[in-house]
Amino acid sequence: MSPHTVLVSRLRAAWLSGKTRPMEYRVAQLEALGRFLDENKLDILEATALDMRKPPFEVELSEISICRSELNHTLNNLGTWMKDEHVDKNWVTQLDSAFIRKDPYGVVLIIGPWNYPINLLLVPLIGAIAAGNCVVMKPSEISRNVERLVAEMLPRYLDKDCFAVVTAGVEETTRLLENKFDYIFFTGSPSVGRIIMTAAAKHLTPVTLELGGKNPCYVSDSCNVQNVARRVAWGRFFNAGQTCVAPDYVLCSADMQEKLLPALREAITEFYGPNPQESPDFGRIVGDKHFQRVQALLRSGHAAIGGQTDAEARYIAPTVLVGVQQDDPIMEEEIFGPILPILTVTSVDDAIAFINARERPLAIYVFSSCKKVVNRVLEQTSSGGFCANDTIMHITLTSLPFGGIGQSGLGRYHGRSSFDTFSHPRSALLRGAGREAFNTLRYPPYARRCLPLLRATTETKRQAACTLL
Ligand code: NAD
Repeated sequence: MSPHTVLVSRLRAAWLSGKTRPMEYRVAQLEALGRFLDENKLDILEATALDMRKPPFEVELSEISICRSELNHTLNNLGTWMKDEHVDKNWVTQLDSAFIRKDPYGVVLIIGPWNYPINLLLVPLIGAIAAGNCVVMKPSEISRNVERLVAEMLPRYLDKDCFAVVTAGVEETTRLLENKFDYIFFTGSPSVGRIIMTAAAKHLTPVTLELGGKNPCYVSDSCNVQNVARRVAWGRFFNAGQTCVAPDYVLCSADMQEKLLPALREAITEFYGPNPQESPDFGRIVGDKHFQRVQALLRSGHAAIGGQTDAEARYIAPTVLVGVQQDDPIMEEEIFGPILPILTVTSVDDAIAFINARERPLAIYVFSSCKKVVNRVLEQTSSGGFCANDTIMHITLTSLPFGGIGQSGLGRYHGRSSFDTFSHPRSALLRGAGREAFNTLRYPPYARRCLPLLRATTETKRQAACTLL
């Protein structure tokens, strides 16, 4: 047996023992996870700085605070979420008990990416623990300092019988995926998402796929240009553009482009100073291969702002491209770097048609002081999430489910949605053992005369429409 198979069997045995089911156990593990975050904060800051020179402010906000918020929200609500949900009954079952039990799936695999390596591993983990599962975590090998930290330190806090970290590259992850898991939660690229779904299909394992894509950002003619520029620049250049929900490109009129360019230049200088390479608040591309890919995208259109690169430092300046054509390479793939192309459209209809002609994105952003414009885009497009007059901020709400649609993913999590994702809604009907006389109506030999009564006691009736209200 391979070591992975041994590990999965060990975790499954622990899960079958019922150890993870009591609320006290789940709370204890979640609190231990909180201690991991508190006691290793400096190491997290150091590891993320080594991997991609992440600014500490960004790490605190996007890695630590988001996990903390999820953790607190889960601990505040777990008792309510875990309760059986009693449901409506028909006449036949009036004296019985019918409810939905939030059952854990069993042994869950969580595979994380490198761009927010703590957040995107631990936020799903919080949901999986809360729902009473055992978990195998597979952090990304690309963010190798965080991978090492998580593999070394996290198991010291969690119950080793039920939670394990596996460090693996592509080859070993392929072997890990040969094992039967009860749920797979994957965050990463659409191409690897397909590989994960294919592997899961062999065991009919349910999956959540949190994928990426190109998030459009429509800027209408009626808006405060300075505010738009700051909010778009922040969303695009946070984590050096390596954010799945970053605005990927701007759509606006030629007039708006004229106004937006100086405002973006001003915002970038305000944020990162005259030379962003010297700013402590601007990150780096995670690896050489990733740097080469993003740098090559600079050949589309021309740089109106930025465009400088330094291969050795894996630095790409905050860049705005204009004159980009729809079929340029930068419009064919997710940019995942600090480059913002602007494409001109003639109207909101033109922007909507542009968006709808492409894969459904993880997020759509609209800037407009006109509610009608915002609502048109909301109603006439489809995406995982939507945010008007800002970027990224919708993901800070634990009350909003987070996930993609179509090419940008499958399933959702955050807050209550995480708990639901990792719970199987098991239908339960607990009937009384007696009162057999009521059942004889449905038994063979069938008597047609019993049918109306049976139907009357089991069938749901259409409610009469009330014309007075
Ligand atoms: P990736 O798909 O290359 O890797 C993700 C994980 O899958 C890593 O742990 C990696 O080791 C593993 N992996 C890679 N190739 C594999 C294979 N052939 N078989 C099995 N496992 C494999 O993604 P990435 O480069 O780490 O992250 C960037 C992508 O993730 C972008 O597309 C981005 O949009 C997306 N992303 C999505 C979200 C979201 O929440 N929707 C969040 C962050 C990143």
